Amino acid sequence: MIVLRDAIVNRLKGAYRGFMVSTMLSLAGLSVDVLVYALYGSIILFTDLVHWAVDTAVELFGFVALYYAVKVGRRFPWSIVVLESAVMLATIVVALGVYLVFFTSYITTAYQAGEVTTTSLVSIVATVLGGILTFLALATQRRNYLKYGLEVLRVDYTHALIDIVAAAIATVGIALVYYTGDASLELLFVVISSMFIIHSLSEILRDILKTITGENIDHELSAKLLKKLINEFRRVDIEDVTARKIGSFYIVEVRARVNPKERLESLHRLRARITRLILEESTLVYHVDVRFFPAWSRRKR
Ligand SMILES: [Zn+2]
Repeated sequence: MIVLRDAIVNRLKGAYRGFMVSTMLSLAGLSVDVLVYALYGSIILFTDLVHWAVDTAVELFGFVALYYAVKVGRRFPWSIVVLESAVMLATIVVALGVYLVFFTSYITTAYQAGEVTTTSLVSIVATVLGGILTFLALATQRRNYLKYGLEVLRVDYTHALIDIVAAAIATVGIALVYYTGDASLELLFVVISSMFIIHSLSEILRDILKTITGENIDHELSAKLLKKLINEFRRVDIEDVTARKIGSFYIVEVRARVNPKERLESLHRLRARITRLILEESTLVYHVDVRFFPAWSRRKR
């Protein structure tokens, strides 16, 4: 048990350090975007900036969630999951709101006047640097994933891969619009760049929906654990096992039918054995809930 616990904490700590690095890189990229946008403008750069802001919020929350997982230990901080979902939803609304205000003002002024907002090539500094920072985050998180195998790390580096494409497109867009001064071309690149904001937002929304609706059941692991328990406990009626995925981790619920006259002491021992068997199966199981029901209540139904 102790060994298993240590293994989990080590992996969590590794992932925590990884997220600390990628959050710093994200904040650095966002700062550069804000600074260059304030000085040189460009709606393409602004679109990239909103994308960075949303992704930085995601990184920040991954970091905070792992911080709690490392510090609080095996007791899963449900209040953090709820808080995270709520703040993430707020982030989506604010990001979309702010972006729509800026986009509308761009359409009604610059675009309608046939002018471009990308009037300096310096804006490229922000997008190129952003690409480099994203590449560093990708390399860091990929290395961490290969080392610690946590799902959150894989999700993070896969997203970074897409963000490199976003940085490249924004760079090309700024250069092309600067040289051609074509307003329609600028609008085209704004629309393409805004797709990456939509991509980030849809990822956040999908995670929140899965957590809320409980669609995060891992049927394969559930079936595997059920089979293992049934084989192990011939005389206990293991009714059902549900493994739910929360981020990188699993919360497992076991339902068992026992003789209602069974001694509490032996149920305690049974619970401990079930928990140990499940923890042996996967180091990513965070919590095991064993629920006992009296055996006769099923026969009556
Ligand atoms: Zn992104």
